[in-house]
Amino acid sequence: MFDFIMTEEQKKLRDEAREFTKWVPKEMIMDMDAEKIQFPHEYLKEAGKRNLLGLRLPKKYGGRELGWVDNGIAAEEIGVASYSLACLWGVGADLVCDAIVNFGSEELKQEIVVPLLKGELYAAEGLTEPRGGSDFFGATTKAVKDGDQWVIDGQKRFIVGAEGADWFLVYAVTNPSAKDHERLTAFMVPRSAKGLETEYIYGLMGVLWKTFHILQILFIKEKKWNILKNILG
Ligand SMILES: Cc1cc2nc3c(=O)[nH]c(=O)nc-3n(C[C@H](O)[C@H](O)[C@H](O)COP(=O)(O)OP(=O)(O)OC[C@H]3O[C@@H](n4cnc5c(N)ncnc54)[C@H](O)[C@@H]3O)c2cc1C
Repeated sequence: MFDFIMTEEQKKLRDEAREFTKWVPKEMIMDMDAEKIQFPHEYLKEAGKRNLLGLRLPKKYGGRELGWVDNGIAAEEIGVASYSLACLWGVGADLVCDAIVNFGSEELKQEIVVPLLKGELYAAEGLTEPRGGSDFFGATTKAVKDGDQWVIDGQKRFIVGAEGADWFLVYAVTNPSAKDHERLTAFMVPRSAKGLETEYIYGLMGVLWKTFHILQILFIKEKKWNILKNILG
């Protein structure tokens, strides 16, 4: 972004993000390209240490309460090192944590958002399906209640950081006959969920280590913090 449209605070943030990008070891990028690194844990740890994760999120969970423009300024710098790392920087701390902060329980915020913004864990997003991603409301992954459990059945693909994810934000159809925006429910599914599998299919050209992963057939035990309420309602 041009200097003359940035505030002094925004320039400082840009410089912070630029410094972080300079920290990224070249070998890490090379090893990711050669698929020797499956998940760059130390990258997220360093970002967390510098308080550069979840910039828009509330300070009480580890964020900085900055705006979208600030986030964009940081993202522009962070993307210089590697598009893949920028995806990793943005998906867990921004997309997933934003959903939890806005629609999840306090328990979920403490369990996932707080450690994630420190770079101690990672949560991936499972939105896109083999049938496509643009038609979000046409999702076919289903979640059916079975006693005190949910059975989620379906496949997701193009999941950034599936290898290292401790949690997955998964969208599934819970009310097929409802209007589009009322059909889906968002679940936070722990990696340990019975039946959860991630499979490496192939690498994406130009996106280094970010691989085509499939996440399939989930069977999760219901817990009150598993569901993000009213996310689309
Ligand atoms: C770098 C990267 C990271 C990603 N990370 C994730 C992730 O972490 N988690 C995740 O769930 N997904 C992820 N995705 C997937 C992304 O969300 C999808 O690629 C996106 O939603 C588009 O879906 P699709 O690729 O299946 O394309 P499709 O939905 O199949 O669309 C293909 C083409 O058809 C066009 N099209 C579709 N519908 C219509 C229509 N009705 N009218 C006219 N044109 C139409 C589209 O514009 C597009 O050009 C990632 C993708 C990329 C590239």
